[in-house]
Amino acid sequence: MILLGSTGSIGVNTLAIAERFGLHVEVLGAGRNIELLNRQIKRFNPSIVVIQEARDRPIVDHPRVLIGQEGIMEAIREAKSDLVINAIVGFAGLRATLEALTCKKRVALANKESLVVAGAFLDSSDIIPIDSEHFGLWYLHDITRPIERMLITASGGAFRDWPLERLQHATLADALRHPNWSMGRKITIDSATMTNKLFELLEARWLFGEGNFDAIIETRSLIHALIDYRDGSTTAHFARADMQLPIAFALLGSVQERIVDRVDLLECGGLEFRAIDPERYPIWSIKEDLLRRPKRGVIVNAANEAAIERFIADEIGFMQIARLTLDAYAHFDVEASEVDALFALDEEVRRWVKER
Ligand code: NDP
Ligand code: MG
Repeated sequence: MILLGSTGSIGVNTLAIAERFGLHVEVLGAGRNIELLNRQIKRFNPSIVVIQEARDRPIVDHPRVLIGQEGIMEAIREAKSDLVINAIVGFAGLRATLEALTCKKRVALANKESLVVAGAFLDSSDIIPIDSEHFGLWYLHDITRPIERMLITASGGAFRDWPLERLQHATLADALRHPNWSMGRKITIDSATMTNKLFELLEARWLFGEGNFDAIIETRSLIHALIDYRDGSTTAHFARADMQLPIAFALLGSVQERIVDRVDLLECGGLEFRAIDPERYPIWSIKEDLLRRPKRGVIVNAANEAAIERFIADEIGFMQIARLTLDAYAHFDVEASEVDALFALDEEVRRWVKER
């Protein structure tokens, strides 16, 4: 496989599955965590390594090191593997997805931003999502019966139980305290704002086609997806909050062994469901509009990434992330008509958010 984002949360879990099932890792792509990358090189012996910055090249223990976005594209083209695992975070992962699909390779996609931004231009039949909710939907999805609604669950993130008036004083450290999942920094912030769930609804829309998608909070993250069938039945996918399960399916196709311990319902005792409140999660106010006009995902994504950068730099407060994103969404009432236009629009929206 070609693994991009190997040093991240999904990357490390992917390598755990690769090791357990003896899968060959032809390419390792990382950002700037060279110390971990070097340990991965030793263990997995890839033919090609890609890193983000040329200045790190001297400390990488490998004879063939490619650099940056160009390096990622070259590695995808050159490698023999026909499976690309894209676990890069953010818009930076989009070119890898595009290149992999152009090269007719299958993409196991953790980088949901690719679908959020460019879903209209991607052929999803070559995409296998690495996201617990979409894995859950896929697991439940039975097209022999008419489906009325597909539901995904949210944990509610770090602030689901905070008094509303405290939210504007929330710090980065507070936002990173996720109740159920251990994940990278950006997606953990996206969980606290509920933007992650908005993105997952778009992701579902591009993966499963037009339909009725929605989300609710399930506070334990033991149910990841539910499907309402027209006959009145609802099915639910229960599994422990562990990404190795969707990753194993994405890498192996079918799974014959135990990957995670089963959810013990007696031990769990009870479950709690809540509606997603737009007062606590203001980004939720554009859900209907965005699902109607999913091509505008690029605007939400760019604004959100730029706003998160400003939050991390301590220039804006937590609630400003959603505020700036909503302002950008209102200001840029446009849709890109082709892939190239996405890159220009992304840049323009980022600049706008940085200047607010
Ligand atoms: P992390 O922040 O843990 O990891 C991101 C990875 O991408 C790291 O290997 C990082 O390198 C690398 N990277 C960052 N920027 C660049 C760049 N410009 N070029 C090349 N590589 C880069 O994130 P996660 O693993 O949590 O998330 C990855 C993706 O998967 C996200 O899109 C997220 O939304 C999605 N996802 C994650 C889940 C999870 O459980 N973590 C669940 C479902 C989806 P380095 O660290 O070396 O700098
Ligand atoms: Mg998810």
